[in-house]
Amino acid sequence: MIKVHSIQSLGTLDGPGVRFVAFLQGCPLRCKCCHNPDTWAMTGGREVSSQDLFKQVLRYKEYFGSDGGITVSGGEPLLQAKDLRELFLLCKEHGINTCLDTSGCILNDDVLSLLEVTDRVLLDIKYTNEDDYLANVGCSMTPVIKFLEKLQERGITTTLRQVIIPTLNDTEDNVLKLNTIRDSYSVVDKVELLAFHKMCQTKYDTLGIEFPLKDVPEPTGEIMSKLKGIL
Ligand code: SF4
Repeated sequence: MIKVHSIQSLGTLDGPGVRFVAFLQGCPLRCKCCHNPDTWAMTGGREVSSQDLFKQVLRYKEYFGSDGGITVSGGEPLLQAKDLRELFLLCKEHGINTCLDTSGCILNDDVLSLLEVTDRVLLDIKYTNEDDYLANVGCSMTPVIKFLEKLQERGITTTLRQVIIPTLNDTEDNVLKLNTIRDSYSVVDKVELLAFHKMCQTKYDTLGIEFPLKDVPEPTGEIMSKLKGIL
């Protein structure tokens, strides 16, 4: 059974074209910038079989066109790699493009099997150095780079995504390092910089958790344009 937090039937922000986006429940990380703290808990969510979730996806197939398909996001979808493989396999058998939005922090046999039926990965590379990972994500950067190496070995088209956060990673140096990572892995065809936002504050308030970045400003359009220009 797949633990689903929520569904966006027709999304356009998480992968190419129009996509059915399933946000899954559960995440082992605690990114300071997380805008989905309501997905952290390993318990909760709605349990759905891969077959039933696939039936929901199939209803929207006509909207996907040539680029769209399904994206599974989180939380951290790699926690549920085994069941996701079944879902993606069904999608592939029906000509539906499969996309995985992940932090890339977990690598095991189930994850490797899931990659066999994954068309694209959106790899949320949160920072470009170990210290920032340890301080602001709560894990090492090493497994993320190992995950990217597996994507390269398997030839899985990859989009690198990073949330730009003033005072943490809104520097030219950081984007130059992203460029270096992109240029080192030929499977990476795109890098997306996303502006940090604080719309999640109400979720933290509801959960009674302090939002660690509540005093950090959102990046200006000018900074975002400048950094995107360096890509
Ligand atoms: S990996 Fe995603 S869901 Fe998990 S804490 Fe980080 S931003 Fe939040």
